[in-house]
Amino acid sequence: MDAISYERAGDVAGAVRAVQQPGAVFIGGGTNLLDLMKGGVARPMRLIDITHISGLDTITTLPNGGIRIGALVRNSDAANHALVREQYPLLSQAFLAGASAQLRNMATVGGNLLQRTRCGYFYDTAFTQCNKRTPGSGCAALDGHNRTHAILGASPQCIAVNPSDMNVALAALDAVVRVNGPAGERMIPFADFHRLPADRPDIDTTLQAGELITAVDLPPPLFSANAYYLKVRDRASYAFALISVAAALQMDGNHVTTARIALGGVAHKPWRASAAEQMLNGQPLTQATLHNAAAAALRDARPQHDNRFKVQLAQRAIVRAVNLAAGHAGGVA
Ligand code: SF4
Repeated sequence: MDAISYERAGDVAGAVRAVQQPGAVFIGGGTNLLDLMKGGVARPMRLIDITHISGLDTITTLPNGGIRIGALVRNSDAANHALVREQYPLLSQAFLAGASAQLRNMATVGGNLLQRTRCGYFYDTAFTQCNKRTPGSGCAALDGHNRTHAILGASPQCIAVNPSDMNVALAALDAVVRVNGPAGERMIPFADFHRLPADRPDIDTTLQAGELITAVDLPPPLFSANAYYLKVRDRASYAFALISVAAALQMDGNHVTTARIALGGVAHKPWRASAAEQMLNGQPLTQATLHNAAAAALRDARPQHDNRFKVQLAQRAIVRAVNLAAGHAGGVA
């Protein structure tokens, strides 16, 4: 058993200083990190507890009409906060689709951003081939069980997917991640926060060493009237998405003024379906247009041997989610 030391940070500057020590990592809710430690996947030497830093556990309005969600806000508190429920229902739905009530009560927004993939080979150290866990060792999923793996944006190094529901909604809403580190504060547009695997699948995000996530900013609410988060999974609760779709629309009658569509369960990062959005923008929402847009979203899909079904499932999920966002009862116009 490895010895682990524990330190409680009193403020952001202290946390950033403390995490510079060898083998140190931040711990918030711990719902993912403790799993990784118990399985021997993560072996930190020092835990820097950030849960007592004041000011990071609130949701506040911003001068531009958006909101700021502190990194220590629990997922259940964010899901049920009046500002989130009323102005960002897409995000509230995504929070409530994630994990179990017990986990949502513990997990923080900052930790959710950093959830690691749920690829079984990554979590089971009996499998020696995993480039994400041990760079250069190979990828057991390529020839193994890959039903739940990526169909977009993967590399020969790694075909894992990002497991978060929250991240999919934040991608559709064009959130901004605020971080503080040794070089000061910076803001990372959500599309740039998570990485595709390329030849470094061991690196999930663009966070620099020692940076602490302090908040997520959401732009003014443009999609509160027409939004839907659809999660397709193997069982009704406490399961990761096979496919998920965050659909948000601005509508003028039956015309789509602006469409935002992000997909989960398909790639190493939340996947914005930009081609589909462009085909819907400025168009009447007909089923023909929507089916064409869904096909465009998956045009570049490269499924694995066990997950070819995901291509059609994702197309159908897009059609259903956009219809539901538009208020078409039952998901069909
Ligand atoms: Fe590891 Fe990625 Fe391959 Fe899974 S898909 S075994 S996480 S390298």
